[in-house]
Amino acid sequence: MTWNPTTGCTKISAGCKHCYAEIMSKRLQAMGVEKYKDNFEVRTHPSALNIPYTWKHSKVVFVNSMSDLFHKDIPTEFIKQVFSVMNDNPQHIFQVLTKRAERLLELDKELKWTHNIWMGVSVENEKVKKRIDFLRKTKAKVKFLSLEPLIGPLPKMNLSKIDWVIVGGESGHNPRPMDADWVVDIQEQCKIKDVAFFFKQWGGKNKKANGRLLNGRTFDEMPEIDLQHSV
Ligand code: SF4
Repeated sequence: MTWNPTTGCTKISAGCKHCYAEIMSKRLQAMGVEKYKDNFEVRTHPSALNIPYTWKHSKVVFVNSMSDLFHKDIPTEFIKQVFSVMNDNPQHIFQVLTKRAERLLELDKELKWTHNIWMGVSVENEKVKKRIDFLRKTKAKVKFLSLEPLIGPLPKMNLSKIDWVIVGGESGHNPRPMDADWVVDIQEQCKIKDVAFFFKQWGGKNKKANGRLLNGRTFDEMPEIDLQHSV
């Protein structure tokens, strides 16, 4: 399930090169979808703030698959409104992912971190490893790393206070390669630090054929959170 109270973004690091949201925005604009009439320009959508109140059953929700909530052009007031909606709906798990970890930390004190908000940062190579430190300093109750598309090794990460690590290789027409040794190393780091590890895919031009087995097995670990007693 995705929920997009904001749309649009601008590229910030190497992981953005083949941005899925940018490609999708262009398609949706061409199809005449009102929300994407300005293509990939950053826009807020106040009318989308009501949507989570209408869902009858508990859901796992990926927030802003078409944007980055902490982009500099999203007003702080609007980010707070998005958080209010998440605070009001503890029956759903909201997963928020950003590459703007610096702004995330700047706003940390102004945000209410309920247990149903899982906060993540994207880290594609060593150059942007600092995002993990910014995330660590926030008061988010569940913290995760999306190492996707992994385009370089990430040795010796500080995984203190990190609950979950997701790894995935790039797919599409011109994917950048992901070395198996990088993935094995990250899985070992997670094992040593007792951090849940999820291996999404090898990626490549034929992601289906390449599958998601690592050392002959799948890794689908998730953080163990008891929502009933945690909000
Ligand atoms: S931060 Fe995310 S949404 Fe924004 S350009 Fe990069 S990949 Fe796309």
